[in-house]
Amino acid sequence: MPQVIRSKYDLKAVIKNIKSKRASIGLVPTMGALHQGHLQLVETANQHYDVTIATIFVNPTQFNNKADLKKYPKTEEADIEKLSATGCDVIFIPEVKEIYQKEVTIGLNFGYLEEILEGKHRPGHFNGVGLIVMKLFGLVEPTGAFFGQKDLQQFRIVSTLIADFDLPIKLHLVPIIRETSGLAMSSRNRRLNDAELKIATTIYSALHLAKAQLIEGYTQEMVLDNVERVFREENGIELEYFEIVDEETLLSKTKVSEGDRLALCVAAFVAGVRLIDNIIFEYKECKYR
Ligand code: AMP
Repeated sequence: MPQVIRSKYDLKAVIKNIKSKRASIGLVPTMGALHQGHLQLVETANQHYDVTIATIFVNPTQFNNKADLKKYPKTEEADIEKLSATGCDVIFIPEVKEIYQKEVTIGLNFGYLEEILEGKHRPGHFNGVGLIVMKLFGLVEPTGAFFGQKDLQQFRIVSTLIADFDLPIKLHLVPIIRETSGLAMSSRNRRLNDAELKIATTIYSALHLAKAQLIEGYTQEMVLDNVERVFREENGIELEYFEIVDEETLLSKTKVSEGDRLALCVAAFVAGVRLIDNIIFEYKECKYR
């Protein structure tokens, strides 16, 4: 059974003990309502480090939409069970007042990353992500930290923190785990019924349609037009953005060339639930067209 810890004080004692044995620590931050995507992060952490520490904390400072925060699913007991079965060693589940004991005065600015994709549509979100990640890094002092490709821009934000603050932490990107329908697993999927889950698969189909059309030589403009049409024609889903970007910088690609590493990034609403997804691939022109 993993050790379940709720206070910073107890966590510090556990970390001190682990460090005294010179054991390495893999950190997996989550907001709970765990699914196989989260567990994949834990399994990967187990493979790389001596001790795996998962955190469950629905971080209020990263929610620009307070209704979304209120509705965020909480399944603590089931989460602990899943983490036990996955071989997690320590689970840190603090209350909000434990983490934010006083009002935070510091603000983080990630430059252009805040102006694009998720940053553009969720003002203040990455400041909140940066704050909680820095707090967890400070508390856990991990050797490595694990984040999912599903939140690709979040991964870039954390890379920026590590680089700009010279943190001695190795960052690991874990691929997206999907349902058999192609829908990216997400805690928010719990808020959808079967019909809505089916509609949500439009997101994955659109990503693949766009990739296929790019490879076939369609211009970005044509691809984006076609994607927008797919969303318009499907009832019950509303596209927020769909972008073709450079995988590394996440900046929009105006022209794609052989060998480019591209990411297609999308956000859409189904039944008022905001879902994001992406695919990454190397652009290779189709030779038979
Ligand atoms: P969350 O609980 O949604 O904040 O997610 C915690 C971590 O799990 C983040 O690093 C996410 O990117 C990652 N994650 C969420 N969904 C998936 C998924 N379907 N596949 C892989 N990683 C995921």
